[in-house]
Amino acid sequence: MSLDIDKRNIWHPYTSMVNPLTTYLIKKANRVHILLENGNSLIDGMSSWWAVIHGYNHPKLNEALKIQIDNFSHVMFGGLTHEPAIELTKRLLTILPESLDKFFYSDSGSVAVEVSMKMALQYFNAIGNKEKKEFITFRSGYFGDTWNAMSVCDPYTGMHKIFNGKLPIQNFINKPVINYNDEWDNSQISEIEKILSKKHSKIAGFILEPIVQGAGGMNFYHPNYLKIIRDLCNKYDILLIFDEIATGFGRTGKIFALEHANVTPDILNIGKAITGGYITFAATVTTKNIAETISNGENKVFMHGPTFMGNALACSVACASFDLLMSYNLKEMIRNIENIIKYHFNYAKEYKNVNDVRVLGAIGVIEMKKNVNIEEIQKLFVEKGIWVRPFGKLIYIMPSFIISNEELAFLCKKVLEVVETLD
Ligand SMILES: *Cc1c(COP(=O)(O)O)cnc(C)c1O
Repeated sequence: MSLDIDKRNIWHPYTSMVNPLTTYLIKKANRVHILLENGNSLIDGMSSWWAVIHGYNHPKLNEALKIQIDNFSHVMFGGLTHEPAIELTKRLLTILPESLDKFFYSDSGSVAVEVSMKMALQYFNAIGNKEKKEFITFRSGYFGDTWNAMSVCDPYTGMHKIFNGKLPIQNFINKPVINYNDEWDNSQISEIEKILSKKHSKIAGFILEPIVQGAGGMNFYHPNYLKIIRDLCNKYDILLIFDEIATGFGRTGKIFALEHANVTPDILNIGKAITGGYITFAATVTTKNIAETISNGENKVFMHGPTFMGNALACSVACASFDLLMSYNLKEMIRNIENIIKYHFNYAKEYKNVNDVRVLGAIGVIEMKKNVNIEEIQKLFVEKGIWVRPFGKLIYIMPSFIISNEELAFLCKKVLEVVETLD
């Protein structure tokens, strides 16, 4: 009965109201186990889209929320403030590059991306540059589903192709071709330099996902790209915006992916795992210079302020999630996950239907030669007792950091068993 209403009345992400993909009713989730209503238990390979890094139903995170809920759940951030937001800021300051110290707390990753793009535009407005209104990014990127975020997602292979011609027109360069572990070669500089030297007078910001392109293709690219782009942004007076909504909080083996290159952007977006996957929340962090320039500009204020800005429940669970993360030996933890995924997924390199296998940190990707049928493959995974949701040609896992070696080995083996049977 309840599933009938789900099918008839509720939209799910990127799905049809006429012919929706199957949804599975869940009863409970604990650690890395998702318990379905029918009694089956699945080992979670997705961390609910990068977010649930400590597993479901974590006692420490539950406790933080229970304490805060008895205090208050939310107050407007206009004119009021609270300990959870201040505590969270104090904590984040200890892990971010020193120059990033002005925080804008919003309610989702896409909104954080909008905020970062508005910051860049307001900055140039404030210094009297009316020309710089466009953005540049790599192809194969994904930055969210709101209007300006969509405009920098891959314009052809991205999820928003039908909006082309309606979205703001941005500038795209080819996706990075040198992979994370490949040998670097300087030929990569010229394409980026060429377009920037031609268009820089119109470009306000270079927005990118450092090291890992997520939902746009699951590519892991060479850290030197970030160094080069940082230098070119300095040279051409372009603000560098990093979107670490997917990579932040340890996923690649570093707390932030920018640490792979030791490059600091002018604006940084974080989200997803920030609350350990408990509540939607995000932040846009920038420098003193940008914050003060905006505040001394024509507008005097930064023009954004969502209703649920700085939500206290989200801030309090984010503090607890931060403390857990700091209590781990993160490097060792993620290296162990990486090694186990590599060990198993490397077998898939031999499969005739597999195009590529790549693993970085707690992310394992099997790229098939053909697009997979999500409906069919999802059923096979569920039958095997795992939760994995591929897109396009990509079958990937990004488990919670607390998954045990045995659970992870089980997850990997079952993925391979399914992959092997696909044509
Ligand atoms: C998920 C994601 C977003 C969008 O975040 P939402 O919370 O879904 O709005 C933006 N950028 C990247 C890199 C993401 O992975």
